[in-house]
Amino acid sequence: MINFEFTRVSSVKAAVDTLAKNPGGGFIAGGTNLVDLMKRGVMSPTRIIDINTLPLKQVEETKNGLTIGALAINSDVSEHELVKKNYPLLAMAFKAGASAQLRNMATVGGNMMQRTRCTYFYDTAMPCNKRQPGSGCGALQGYNRMHAIFGASNKCIAVHPSDMCVALAALNATVTVVGSKGQRNILFTDFHRLPGEQPEKDNTLAKGELITGVTIPANPFTKNVYYLKIRDRASYAFALISVAAALDMSGDTIKSARLAMGGVSHKPWRLTEAEKFLAGKPATNESFLRAAEIGMKGAKGYGYNNFKLKMGAAGIVEGLTKAIQNV
Ligand code: SF4
Repeated sequence: MINFEFTRVSSVKAAVDTLAKNPGGGFIAGGTNLVDLMKRGVMSPTRIIDINTLPLKQVEETKNGLTIGALAINSDVSEHELVKKNYPLLAMAFKAGASAQLRNMATVGGNMMQRTRCTYFYDTAMPCNKRQPGSGCGALQGYNRMHAIFGASNKCIAVHPSDMCVALAALNATVTVVGSKGQRNILFTDFHRLPGEQPEKDNTLAKGELITGVTIPANPFTKNVYYLKIRDRASYAFALISVAAALDMSGDTIKSARLAMGGVSHKPWRLTEAEKFLAGKPATNESFLRAAEIGMKGAKGYGYNNFKLKMGAAGIVEGLTKAIQNV
């Protein structure tokens, strides 16, 4: 860990201005990932900008849907009455994430900004294009059991570790960010990126921008939803695969569907073709099996993670089945 300077800011403008003056710096909120990364020498910000006192903790319904401030605490959001009632898929995803202790510290913005848990990324003795561009990828030929089956490149096959983000991608959320050029909104599905030739870039934030919140449009997915997470340890582990499934039903017919997966790509992986297929279909096992087949098209294993191909298909069917059963 290197020496660093510390600044506490009390407004969004001060946060953005401070980072602009300290391009080697970084924001800290809950610190549940950044502090680990600093201790291991994976990230070395020269100035830590503490944003915890910014007024960004709101959870409120507006004409645009539900707005959640970037500093809202994961456990508070998951237990919020509005979230449990109108956005139950998000509440389920939060509860599947991390441990109770971590959820009590972690913020919504920090959850989005967390880095991959690829073990080669954390081990500074190993090559990793994400940590050190051009050094190679230890996981490609290594122990890649946790790694991507969709959207990977020959530079990086890491996955994004969040559960919350999978639900937000399925629910068509948007991210609000502020930088020196002002405020802008980014579709949640465009926020995280695929690794391509630049795996060091996790997302589409411009340099110096701060996440101030996310907004989820009002939606009909209040009843038949399920967040399925398959992991090695039920108490606390990152997803091998996860599935966010949401159905809007008319009798036994699916009016519309939302499906996204976690643990399978560098970003939350939305299954739009499978969603299109499900619209207007009866909610039967046959429909779900076909949706899984469509959703898994293009999936590719890298050796140790080949089991995710079967597990992914089975997970889609199980997620949809549990959404219908409303369990
Ligand atoms: Fe690094 Fe990505 Fe390869 Fe992991 S998969 S070693 S994060 S480049």
